[in-house]
Amino acid sequence: MTCRLLITGGAGFIGSHTCLVLLAQGHELVIVDNFSNSSPLALQRVQSLAQRNTIQVVEGDVRDADLLDQTFRSCGELDGVIHFAGLKAVGESVANPLLYWDVNVNGSRVLAEVMQRHGCSTLVFSSTATVYGAPITFPLREDSLTDPIHPYAQTKRAVEQMLDALSRNAGWRIASLRYFNPVGAHPSGQIGEDPLGVPNNLFPFITQVAAGRRERLHIFGNDYATPDGTGIRDYLHVMDLAEAHSATLAHLLERPAPVQLTLNIGTGCGRSVLEVIHGFEQATGLSIPYEIVARRPGDVAKLEACPAKAEQLLGWSAQRSLEEMCTDGWAWQQANPMGYRNAP
Ligand code: NAD
Ligand code: UDP
Repeated sequence: MTCRLLITGGAGFIGSHTCLVLLAQGHELVIVDNFSNSSPLALQRVQSLAQRNTIQVVEGDVRDADLLDQTFRSCGELDGVIHFAGLKAVGESVANPLLYWDVNVNGSRVLAEVMQRHGCSTLVFSSTATVYGAPITFPLREDSLTDPIHPYAQTKRAVEQMLDALSRNAGWRIASLRYFNPVGAHPSGQIGEDPLGVPNNLFPFITQVAAGRRERLHIFGNDYATPDGTGIRDYLHVMDLAEAHSATLAHLLERPAPVQLTLNIGTGCGRSVLEVIHGFEQATGLSIPYEIVARRPGDVAKLEACPAKAEQLLGWSAQRSLEEMCTDGWAWQQANPMGYRNAP
């Protein structure tokens, strides 16, 4: 079955990879993105990779109800929405919590209201593993305690709660996907992660060190209660995450409303910072100079998914190795040393 889907934030890192998967499956896509953290070039490349030049792009803000109303009116009946649009920098959320509550929470509320007005009630929402806070017991299952410790995670948890309430009393089909740490890029090297300025995240920092754009990686602490003292995260290939979205949509669309789902999306295999560095070095043959520095405020020792529920309900599990995450991320970095900026 092919569908007509609205993708908010579809030009971003995860959105662009998901659009590619959906386009290749034959779906019709309408993207709403204000390009505050992305480039329209990503969508051009998605279309050329899929060899389908059919994406309808609407430049605008998800908080703009008139723009969303107009989009729903003009693009025919929509079967579902994937809502990626949002802000994701933890430090920025601490400095400017109101902005995060506005874009992430108010943006999601406006979108849900407009969907309701237009009779569209199937929604996949981008949540995050950081809603678990600083867990000390594992495995982390979806019913494990949530205890978000910064405004970014708090806004994501608030949207989950808003959507849970909505799905209970209004015939909706809603899935909140708690992503762990998506990394890597499409193996073509044509689309990938394009952080502005100094990368906050480990993976793009490593690829920029490998490319010589930065001298060395700072490892934020080696005194955590983990086997080598560095922080552990559950890194997954962004193409696996993209496929999780198409599996989730198919699951929702096959079932009668109401459906409420919360799913961890990770590999179940946590890796330390040092393991990632060594994995990258092995995969690429390059060396990554590093230095141990102080812990980064707000970081936790370990986040690792129990991905069993997604496997059981969706038949989805992460397929790609750490080696593929590294080689594909490196191919993107090499082909696009400055990301989408200054690209031909
Ligand atoms: P991204 O910044 O690359 O993509 C977000 C997209 O949304 C961008 O294209 C941006 O221009 C757009 N956008 C932002 N604010 C908007 C607004 N008000 N109106 C319209 N468009 C807007 O981020 P990403 O890594 O692709 O993340 C996508 C979603 O997944 C986000 O909601 C993020 O919080 C969530 N998430 C990301 C990660 C991660 O590690 N990347 C982990 C967990 C959850
Ligand atoms: N990290 C690091 N140096 C960096 C960026 C990240 O040592 O320049 C560590 C960080 O402390 C954490 C892990 O790498 O243990 C993953 O961090 P990232 O920001 O990529 O993801 P998140 O903290 O959001 O899970």
